[in-house]
Amino acid sequence: MADRDGVIWIDGKFVPWREAQVHVLTHTLHYGMGVFEGIRAYPTANGLAVFRLREHSKRLLGSAKILDMDAPYTAEEIDQAILDTIRENKLESAYIRPMFFYGSEGMGLHADNLNVHTMIAAWHWGAYLGAESIERGIRVKTSSFVRHHINITMCRAKANGNYMNSMMALKEVTKAGYDEALLLDVDGFVAEGSGENFFMVRNGVLYTPELTSALEGITRDTVIELAREIGLEVREKRITRDEVYVCDEAFFTGTAAEVTPIRELDDRAIGSGTRGPITERLQKMYFDQVEGRRETHPEWLTYV
Ligand code: PMP
Repeated sequence: MADRDGVIWIDGKFVPWREAQVHVLTHTLHYGMGVFEGIRAYPTANGLAVFRLREHSKRLLGSAKILDMDAPYTAEEIDQAILDTIRENKLESAYIRPMFFYGSEGMGLHADNLNVHTMIAAWHWGAYLGAESIERGIRVKTSSFVRHHINITMCRAKANGNYMNSMMALKEVTKAGYDEALLLDVDGFVAEGSGENFFMVRNGVLYTPELTSALEGITRDTVIELAREIGLEVREKRITRDEVYVCDEAFFTGTAAEVTPIRELDDRAIGSGTRGPITERLQKMYFDQVEGRRETHPEWLTYV
Protein backbone atom coordinates (compact mmCIF):
# COMPACT_ATOMS: atom_id res chain seq x y z
CA MET A 1 0.00 0.00 0.00
CA ALA A 2 2.79 2.44 0.87
CA ASP A 3 4.69 2.16 -2.41
CA ARG A 4 2.53 3.92 -4.96
CA ASP A 5 2.05 7.24 -6.70
CA GLY A 6 -0.41 9.83 -5.47
CA VAL A 7 -0.84 12.14 -2.53
CA ILE A 8 -2.29 11.81 0.95
CA TRP A 9 -3.90 14.70 2.81
CA ILE A 10 -2.30 15.10 6.23
CA ASP A 11 -3.27 17.92 8.59
CA GLY A 12 -4.29 20.21 5.76
CA LYS A 13 -1.46 19.52 3.32
CA PHE A 14 -0.86 17.08 0.50
CA VAL A 15 2.11 14.81 1.07
CA PRO A 16 3.53 12.48 -1.61
CA TRP A 17 2.12 8.98 -0.97
CA ARG A 18 5.49 7.36 -0.23
CA GLU A 19 6.43 10.12 2.24
CA ALA A 20 3.19 10.01 4.23
CA GLN A 21 4.78 8.46 7.33
CA VAL A 22 4.42 8.71 11.10
CA HIS A 23 6.89 8.09 13.94
CA VAL A 24 7.02 4.64 15.58
CA LEU A 25 5.97 6.27 18.86
CA THR A 26 2.67 7.41 17.34
CA HIS A 27 0.26 7.05 20.25
CA THR A 28 -2.57 5.46 18.24
CA LEU A 29 -0.19 2.76 17.01
CA HIS A 30 0.41 1.74 20.63
CA TYR A 31 -3.05 1.92 22.16
CA GLY A 32 -5.49 1.89 19.24
CA MET A 33 -7.26 5.11 20.18
CA GLY A 34 -8.27 6.60 16.86
CA VAL A 35 -11.34 6.84 14.64
CA PHE A 36 -11.76 6.39 10.94
CA GLU A 37 -14.17 6.08 8.05
CA GLY A 38 -14.52 4.07 4.86
CA ILE A 39 -16.29 5.90 2.05
CA ARG A 40 -16.77 5.15 -1.64
CA ALA A 41 -17.06 7.33 -4.71
CA TYR A 42 -18.55 5.82 -7.86
CA PRO A 43 -18.46 6.91 -11.49
CA THR A 44 -21.87 8.18 -12.66
CA ALA A 45 -23.14 9.64 -15.94
CA ASN A 46 -22.50 13.08 -14.41
CA GLY A 47 -19.00 12.29 -13.17
CA LEU A 48 -17.54 10.80 -10.02
CA ALA A 49 -19.85 11.04 -6.98
CA VAL A 50 -19.14 10.35 -3.31
CA PHE A 51 -21.93 8.34 -1.70
CA ARG A 52 -23.43 9.85 1.48
CA LEU A 53 -20.37 11.96 2.16
CA ARG A 54 -21.88 14.09 4.93
CA GLU A 55 -23.21 11.05 6.80
CA HIS A 56 -19.69 9.61 6.82
CA SER A 57 -18.02 12.81 8.01
CA LYS A 58 -20.69 13.19 10.69
CA ARG A 59 -20.07 9.62 11.85
CA LEU A 60 -16.33 10.36 11.97
CA LEU A 61 -16.98 13.36 14.21
CA GLY A 62 -19.43 11.34 16.27
CA SER A 63 -16.85 8.58 16.74
CA ALA A 64 -14.31 11.19 17.93
CA LYS A 65 -16.84 12.62 20.37
CA ILE A 66 -17.61 9.17 21.77
CA LEU A 67 -13.89 8.57 22.36
CA ASP A 68 -13.48 12.12 23.72
CA MET A 69 -10.93 13.04 21.04
CA ASP A 70 -10.94 16.68 19.94
CA ALA A 71 -11.77 16.69 16.24
CA PRO A 72 -9.54 19.26 14.54
CA TYR A 73 -11.92 19.83 11.61
CA THR A 74 -15.62 20.39 11.01
CA ALA A 75 -17.76 18.15 8.79
CA GLU A 76 -17.63 20.85 6.06
CA GLU A 77 -13.83 20.91 6.20
CA ILE A 78 -13.58 17.12 6.12
CA ASP A 79 -15.95 16.95 3.15
CA GLN A 80 -13.89 19.52 1.28
CA ALA A 81 -10.61 17.77 2.07
CA ILE A 82 -12.04 14.46 0.85
CA LEU A 83 -13.17 15.99 -2.44
CA ASP A 84 -9.77 17.69 -2.85
CA THR A 85 -7.96 14.39 -2.17
CA ILE A 86 -9.99 12.53 -4.80
CA ARG A 87 -9.38 15.32 -7.34
CA GLU A 88 -5.70 15.59 -6.59
CA ASN A 89 -5.25 11.84 -7.14
CA LYS A 90 -7.25 12.00 -10.40
CA LEU A 91 -9.29 8.95 -9.45
CA GLU A 92 -12.05 7.48 -11.58
CA SER A 93 -13.51 5.57 -8.64
CA ALA A 94 -12.39 5.72 -5.05
CA TYR A 95 -12.35 4.16 -1.64
CA ILE A 96 -11.63 6.94 0.82
CA ARG A 97 -10.07 6.45 4.23
CA PRO A 98 -10.05 9.43 6.61
CA MET A 99 -8.69 8.96 10.13
CA PHE A 100 -8.17 11.01 13.30
CA PHE A 101 -5.24 9.72 15.31
CA TYR A 102 -3.02 10.80 18.18
CA GLY A 103 0.54 11.73 17.28
CA SER A 104 3.89 10.99 18.90
CA GLU A 105 3.80 14.04 21.18
CA GLY A 106 3.58 11.86 24.27
CA MET A 107 3.47 8.27 25.48
CA GLY A 108 1.56 6.40 28.15
CA LEU A 109 -2.12 6.40 28.96
CA HIS A 110 -1.76 9.60 30.97
CA ALA A 111 -0.36 11.59 28.06
CA ASP A 112 -2.26 14.87 27.96
CA ASN A 113 -0.13 16.69 25.41
CA LEU A 114 -1.34 14.74 22.42
CA ASN A 115 -2.46 16.32 19.18
CA VAL A 116 -5.18 14.83 17.06
CA HIS A 117 -3.90 14.45 13.50
CA THR A 118 -5.96 13.89 10.40
CA MET A 119 -5.15 11.85 7.33
CA ILE A 120 -7.21 11.21 4.22
CA ALA A 121 -6.14 8.69 1.61
CA ALA A 122 -8.10 7.68 -1.50
CA TRP A 123 -7.41 4.94 -4.01
CA HIS A 124 -9.20 2.54 -6.33
CA TRP A 125 -10.53 -0.53 -4.48
CA GLY A 126 -12.74 -3.07 -6.28
CA ALA A 127 -15.26 -5.46 -4.68
CA TYR A 128 -14.08 -6.01 -1.10
CA LEU A 129 -15.02 -9.69 -0.96
CA GLY A 130 -14.12 -10.42 -4.60
CA ALA A 131 -16.09 -9.60 -7.77
CA GLU A 132 -17.67 -13.06 -8.03
CA SER A 133 -19.00 -12.87 -4.44
CA ILE A 134 -21.45 -10.14 -5.46
CA GLU A 135 -23.25 -12.68 -7.68
CA ARG A 136 -22.44 -16.03 -6.12
CA GLY A 137 -22.54 -15.03 -2.50
CA ILE A 138 -20.10 -16.00 0.21
CA ARG A 139 -19.56 -18.78 2.71
CA VAL A 140 -19.77 -17.53 6.27
CA LYS A 141 -18.91 -19.10 9.60
CA THR A 142 -19.98 -18.04 13.07
CA SER A 143 -16.88 -16.91 14.90
CA SER A 144 -15.93 -18.07 18.36
CA PHE A 145 -14.95 -14.46 19.05
CA VAL A 146 -17.86 -12.50 20.48
CA ARG A 147 -18.64 -8.95 19.30
CA HIS A 148 -17.84 -6.12 21.65
CA HIS A 149 -20.00 -5.40 24.64
CA ILE A 150 -21.54 -1.92 24.50
CA ASN A 151 -19.78 -0.91 27.69
CA ILE A 152 -16.38 -2.36 26.88
CA THR A 153 -15.68 -0.66 23.60
CA MET A 154 -17.99 1.93 22.23
CA CYS A 155 -19.84 0.19 19.40
CA ARG A 156 -21.30 3.37 17.87
CA ALA A 157 -17.75 4.59 17.27
CA LYS A 158 -15.84 3.40 14.22
CA ALA A 159 -12.73 3.18 16.36
CA ASN A 160 -9.38 1.72 15.33
CA GLY A 161 -9.06 -0.51 18.39
CA ASN A 162 -12.47 -2.09 17.78
CA TYR A 163 -11.05 -3.82 14.73
CA MET A 164 -8.79 -6.17 16.70
CA ASN A 165 -11.94 -8.14 17.43
CA SER A 166 -12.97 -8.05 13.75
CA MET A 167 -9.57 -9.21 12.58
CA MET A 168 -9.36 -12.12 15.00
CA ALA A 169 -12.82 -13.29 13.97
CA LEU A 170 -12.02 -12.95 10.28
CA LYS A 171 -8.68 -14.71 10.56
CA GLU A 172 -10.22 -17.57 12.49
CA VAL A 173 -12.80 -18.30 9.79
CA THR A 174 -10.68 -17.59 6.71
CA LYS A 175 -8.03 -20.01 8.03
CA ALA A 176 -10.81 -22.58 8.20
CA GLY A 177 -11.64 -21.91 4.54
CA TYR A 178 -14.63 -19.54 4.85
CA ASP A 179 -14.96 -16.07 3.31
CA GLU A 180 -16.30 -14.01 6.21
CA ALA A 181 -17.20 -14.24 9.89
CA LEU A 182 -20.54 -13.78 11.57
CA LEU A 183 -20.10 -12.42 15.09
CA LEU A 184 -22.62 -12.93 17.85
CA ASP A 185 -23.13 -10.45 20.68
CA VAL A 186 -22.46 -11.18 24.36
CA ASP A 187 -25.98 -12.56 24.72
CA GLY A 188 -25.50 -14.92 21.78
CA PHE A 189 -27.60 -13.02 19.23
CA VAL A 190 -26.38 -12.16 15.74
CA ALA A 191 -24.46 -8.89 15.76
CA GLU A 192 -22.73 -8.35 12.42
CA GLY A 193 -19.88 -9.40 10.14
CA SER A 194 -16.28 -8.41 10.77
CA GLY A 195 -16.83 -5.28 8.69
CA GLU A 196 -20.46 -5.48 7.57
CA ASN A 197 -24.01 -5.29 8.88
CA PHE A 198 -26.22 -8.36 8.59
CA PHE A 199 -29.65 -8.81 6.99
CA MET A 200 -31.88 -11.82 6.41
CA VAL A 201 -35.16 -12.42 4.60
CA ARG A 202 -37.75 -14.77 6.03
CA ASN A 203 -41.28 -15.20 4.67
CA GLY A 204 -40.99 -11.97 2.70
CA VAL A 205 -39.90 -9.82 5.67
CA LEU A 206 -36.47 -8.22 5.89
CA TYR A 207 -34.80 -8.53 9.30
CA THR A 208 -31.66 -6.92 10.66
CA PRO A 209 -30.27 -6.93 14.21
CA GLU A 210 -31.12 -4.00 16.46
CA LEU A 211 -28.24 -1.60 16.83
CA THR A 212 -26.57 -2.49 20.06
CA SER A 213 -23.14 -3.92 19.41
CA ALA A 214 -23.27 -3.56 15.60
CA LEU A 215 -21.97 -0.46 13.90
CA GLU A 216 -24.62 1.99 12.70
CA GLY A 217 -23.87 1.27 9.07
CA ILE A 218 -24.64 3.82 6.41
CA THR A 219 -25.19 1.06 3.84
CA ARG A 220 -27.55 -0.59 6.36
CA ASP A 221 -29.54 2.63 6.53
CA THR A 222 -29.53 2.91 2.73
CA VAL A 223 -30.78 -0.65 2.25
CA ILE A 224 -33.54 -0.17 4.84
CA GLU A 225 -34.65 2.95 2.97
CA LEU A 226 -34.57 1.14 -0.41
CA ALA A 227 -36.49 -1.85 1.01
CA ARG A 228 -39.22 0.40 2.40
CA GLU A 229 -39.44 2.12 -0.97
CA ILE A 230 -40.49 -1.18 -2.60
CA GLY A 231 -42.95 -1.94 0.18
CA LEU A 232 -40.83 -4.54 1.92
CA GLU A 233 -41.49 -4.80 5.63
CA VAL A 234 -38.29 -4.18 7.61
CA ARG A 235 -37.97 -5.34 11.21
CA GLU A 236 -35.05 -4.66 13.53
CA LYS A 237 -34.92 -7.36 16.15
CA ARG A 238 -32.68 -9.79 17.96
CA ILE A 239 -31.82 -12.66 15.63
CA THR A 240 -30.57 -16.09 16.66
CA ARG A 241 -28.12 -18.09 14.60
CA ASP A 242 -30.63 -20.91 14.09
CA GLU A 243 -33.09 -18.40 12.63
CA VAL A 244 -30.44 -17.64 10.06
CA TYR A 245 -29.99 -21.36 9.29
CA VAL A 246 -33.64 -21.56 8.24
CA CYS A 247 -34.06 -18.13 6.62
CA ASP A 248 -34.74 -17.73 2.89
CA GLU A 249 -31.99 -15.24 2.07
CA ALA A 250 -29.20 -13.43 3.87
CA PHE A 251 -26.69 -10.75 2.96
CA PHE A 252 -24.08 -8.41 4.37
CA THR A 253 -23.95 -4.65 3.77
CA GLY A 254 -21.07 -2.22 4.04
CA THR A 255 -19.37 0.56 2.15
CA ALA A 256 -16.55 -1.81 1.20
CA ALA A 257 -18.67 -4.99 0.93
CA GLU A 258 -21.63 -3.17 -0.71
CA VAL A 259 -24.47 -5.74 -0.78
CA THR A 260 -22.90 -9.20 -0.63
CA PRO A 261 -25.17 -12.27 -0.57
CA ILE A 262 -24.49 -14.99 2.00
CA ARG A 263 -24.93 -18.41 0.44
CA GLU A 264 -23.92 -20.52 3.42
CA LEU A 265 -23.67 -20.16 7.19
CA ASP A 266 -21.86 -22.82 9.23
CA ASP A 267 -22.01 -25.28 6.28
CA ARG A 268 -25.78 -24.92 5.94
CA ALA A 269 -27.06 -23.53 2.63
CA ILE A 270 -29.05 -20.33 3.03
CA GLY A 271 -32.29 -20.75 1.06
CA SER A 272 -31.37 -22.22 -2.31
CA GLY A 273 -27.67 -21.69 -1.64
CA THR A 274 -27.43 -18.88 -4.20
CA ARG A 275 -28.23 -15.17 -4.26
CA GLY A 276 -31.92 -14.81 -3.41
CA PRO A 277 -34.40 -12.71 -5.44
CA ILE A 278 -34.95 -10.03 -2.78
CA THR A 279 -31.20 -9.75 -2.21
CA GLU A 280 -30.69 -9.39 -5.96
CA ARG A 281 -33.35 -6.69 -6.21
CA LEU A 282 -31.96 -4.67 -3.29
CA GLN A 283 -28.43 -5.14 -4.58
CA LYS A 284 -29.43 -3.80 -8.00
CA MET A 285 -31.21 -0.84 -6.38
CA TYR A 286 -28.11 -0.16 -4.32
CA PHE A 287 -25.76 -0.14 -7.31
CA ASP A 288 -28.24 1.96 -9.31
CA GLN A 289 -28.35 4.39 -6.40
CA VAL A 290 -24.60 4.74 -5.85
CA GLU A 291 -23.92 4.90 -9.58
CA GLY A 292 -26.48 7.68 -10.05
CA ARG A 293 -29.07 5.78 -12.11
CA ARG A 294 -31.97 6.55 -9.78
CA GLU A 295 -33.95 9.77 -9.42
CA THR A 296 -34.52 9.29 -5.72
CA HIS A 297 -32.17 10.67 -3.04
CA PRO A 298 -30.06 13.03 -5.16
CA GLU A 299 -28.82 14.39 -1.80
CA TRP A 300 -26.89 11.15 -1.26
CA LEU A 301 -24.49 11.96 -4.11
CA THR A 302 -21.79 14.62 -3.86
CA TYR A 303 -20.17 15.18 -7.22
CA VAL A 304 -16.42 15.50 -7.25
N1 PMP B 1 -19.92 -3.04 10.77
C1 PMP B 1 -18.58 -2.89 10.85
C2 PMP B 1 -17.87 -3.50 11.97
C3 PMP B 1 -17.91 -2.15 9.87
O1 PMP B 1 -16.58 -2.00 9.94
C4 PMP B 1 -18.61 -1.60 8.80
C5 PMP B 1 -17.89 -0.83 7.73
N2 PMP B 1 -17.75 0.51 8.08
C6 PMP B 1 -20.00 -1.77 8.75
C7 PMP B 1 -20.62 -2.52 9.76
C8 PMP B 1 -20.82 -1.18 7.65
O2 PMP B 1 -20.88 0.21 7.78
P1 PMP B 1 -21.05 1.13 6.50
O3 PMP B 1 -22.22 0.62 5.76
O4 PMP B 1 -21.30 2.49 7.06
O5 PMP B 1 -19.80 1.06 5.73
